[in-house]
Order: sequence, then structure tokens, then C-alpha cells
Amino acid sequence: ASMRALTEDADRAYELDRQHVFHSWSAQELINPLVITRAEGSYVWDGQGRKLLDFTSQLVYTNLGHGHPRIVEAIQEQAAALCTVAPQYANGTRSEAARLIASHTPGDLNRVFFTNGGADANEHAIRMARLHTGKHKVLSTYRSYHGGTQLAINVTGDPRRWPNDTGSTGNVHFFGPFLYRSPFHSTTEQEERERALDHLEQVIALEGPSTIAAVILESIPGTAGIMIPPPGYLRGVRELCDKHGIVFIADEVMSGFGRSGEWFAIEHAGVVPDLLTFAKGVNSGYVPLGGVAISDAIFQSFAKRPYPGGLTYSGHPLACAAAVASIEVMEAERIVEHSAALGEEVFGPSLRSLAERHQWIGEVRGVGAFWAIELVADRETREPLAPYGGSSPEMGAVIAATMANGVLPFANFNRIHAVPPINISAEEAGEGIRALDAALGEARAAVAS
Ligand code: PLP
Repeated sequence: ASMRALTEDADRAYELDRQHVFHSWSAQELINPLVITRAEGSYVWDGQGRKLLDFTSQLVYTNLGHGHPRIVEAIQEQAAALCTVAPQYANGTRSEAARLIASHTPGDLNRVFFTNGGADANEHAIRMARLHTGKHKVLSTYRSYHGGTQLAINVTGDPRRWPNDTGSTGNVHFFGPFLYRSPFHSTTEQEERERALDHLEQVIALEGPSTIAAVILESIPGTAGIMIPPPGYLRGVRELCDKHGIVFIADEVMSGFGRSGEWFAIEHAGVVPDLLTFAKGVNSGYVPLGGVAISDAIFQSFAKRPYPGGLTYSGHPLACAAAVASIEVMEAERIVEHSAALGEEVFGPSLRSLAERHQWIGEVRGVGAFWAIELVADRETREPLAPYGGSSPEMGAVIAATMANGVLPFANFNRIHAVPPINISAEEAGEGIRALDAALGEARAAVAS
């Protein structure tokens, strides 16, 4: 069958999906997946031929939009030249992808171990940290997501961990900073930073620094709510790690590759982690790819003894070709600068003006093309419009109204995230925000009636 014909036949796609496809994170018979038959730039088309602005970048990964011709051509050319080669060989495309990635990661993160995605990148980063330090425990935050494999889901701080937190040892969770819902009763960013660092210092002291291999953090927590850490927080974490011989792992799977208006979100803090994990935006997810960028010190740990880990598809040429093309496009088209400008000139001002007009908006926060709208039932109590880990008729109405206004929304509990491709034009971004504006009004009216 022609792939194009398979992709465009919406009825058959839906019918066979329901018969044979088992979906992530879902009660299989309670879902009704939207068929996507076509995509271009910042838009997708559903099975009814309806055009939707993709304000999700799928799962926040098509950073250069759909069908970018340079990336598609690179994959086609690589497929014709050398479609695959095992990881033990050297391959020019993989070498170039590693060089380009290392040229943009901060500090001395000069080596790249390639994985298939973000979860396995975090698994390997933790394995490296344990072997490098000879210690075992891993500290991570509540309100985080690090992936769906056994260790990564145990490190995660999200309700998806709850049914899975049976099979892994040494995971300890602590509270990261989140001023709007401060676990420390802070009223200012400075208080939140100081108290969050005091809290982490106490967790390290009470767990025992001699038992802790790593602290893993999303430089800006993504799915959990795009909480920008207060100034000085990540530097404080870096200092605590240095003081206690703990490896600092920055998870940049969602926040990396321009999403935050820097190549990597940790650059906003001027801090260099020991390991940095990436996936998603490295090649806009056109072919699965993730990896770990490794400091010189940790590299030295494996210079003369073997690293006990690997994957059949580590550094797959098709995925690496897509990464080379993506990074070249980002450099040539100044996509990181564009992302920063979108945040300052479009998302920041227009979402704040939305917050003035809609009672349901408790807070908007973000940077670059990475924004969260926190919806509340009551602005005084900050009661979320859906409970943590759950949904509500109000959130259901917001999502439905957003789609009825032509926009595919990213929703998580009581939040809507505005996370479009980072090469979206200011006009398209404005179109999406106007749809959210209309949707919030319509949803409130619908729920009230
Ligand atoms: N880390 C973060 C911050 C993520 O957002 C994700 C995915 O959403 C992951 C890790 C897991 O990546 P993957 O789904 O590619 O395994």
C-alpha cells in the first residue's frame, strides 16, 4: 500500500486503530483518538478535513513544525546513502550530529551518548552518575516528568508514577520551587529560592550525602506546569551538588533546543550541569532520538573502563541526519532568537492581557515558546479548575471550545500550555491566542448554563 494512501484514509485509520493499536497511558476502550491525516508547518488536518493550529507541537517536540523540507530531504538523502549502521561503527552523520550538539551544550559537555528518546537518556544519565560516584540514590522533584521506563517513571513526580512505583530503589522526591503554589509558604521569588534550597539541603543531609549519586531536575519543569525557577535556584543546586559530590543531571528533553529562548534552558541560570539529557527538539522528533551530553570528568570515568550500557539503534543515521538538518536550520534561521522574541513580544503581553479578562486564569507564566495558563475556580484560594491528577467538566469545556476555535491545545490537569512550533510566525501565534481567548469565554458560558 502507498504510505500516503494509508495516511489519508481516515475511516480505515480509525477502525484499525480501535482494533489493533494499544495507546499510551489510556484506558483503551474509553478513548476516541483524533485521526490526523496531514500536517504542514504549524497546522494539522483531522479526519474530517478540519484544519487545526498545532499549539502542542504534538508532545512538545515538532520545534520546527511539520514537514520541514530541509529535515525531510536530509532523512531521504540519508536513507538512500546509508539507512542504518550499528552503533559500534563510526559514521559521518552521527559524528556531525554529536559535534553540532556539543557545540551548543554549555560548558564542557563535549561527548554525546545517543538514545532512542528521553526516558532512556535519563536512565543512562543516572547509570553514569551511579558508576561515576559509586553511590546509589537519586533525588528528583515532585511535579516533574522524566519518562515512562521503569526507573524514569519512578524518578518522575507525576501521578503516572503512582501505579508504577514498585520496582526501583533509591528514589527520593523533594519539592522544587513553585511560587504560585509554594510548598514553603513563600510570598516572593527570593523567599521561594532560599526556602527551596534550604529544603533540598536538609533532604541531602537527612538522606546522607554519601548515599546520593545524582540530583535530576528539568531546568524548567515542562509537563508539570512550566514553572520557571527563581533567579539563583539552579546555581544553588549546582553548589549543593559540588559540596556533596553529587552529579547534577539537567533534563532538557522538553526545555532544550530553543524552546525557552536559549539553546538550553539552564543557560538562563548560567549554570553547567554534569550531564544534560535531550530528545524531542534535537530533530523535531521526525525520527526518534535522544541522548546524554557528558562532562569531561564523567567521560574520564569511562575512558579506561567500559561503559556498561548500549542500544541497537544508538546514533541511528536517519535520526542523526534529521538532527544535523534541524540544528543547521536553527542556526541559519536564528530560531532561538525568534523563540525568545515570541515570548517577550507575543506570548508574554497577550497572555497577560488574557489573564486580565478571564476570571478563570490564576496565573500565566513562561518564556520563549514555552507558556502555561494556570486555570483556577477561585482566584483567592487558587483552587485549581481540575484537581491534581484529574479532569473536570470545566477543563473539558475549555479543551472542546479551543478545538472548536481551530486550535489543538496541550492540556494537563488544570492547565493549558501554549507550546507551538518555535518557528511559528507572530501572526499564527496571535491566531492561537485569540482562539484561546474566545474558548475561555465560551467554555465559561457553557458551564454556567
Ligand atoms: N523528560 C522530560 C522533561 C519530558 O518532557 C519527557 C517527555 O515528555 C521525557 C523526559 C521522556 O521522553 P520520551 O517520551 O522520549 O521517553
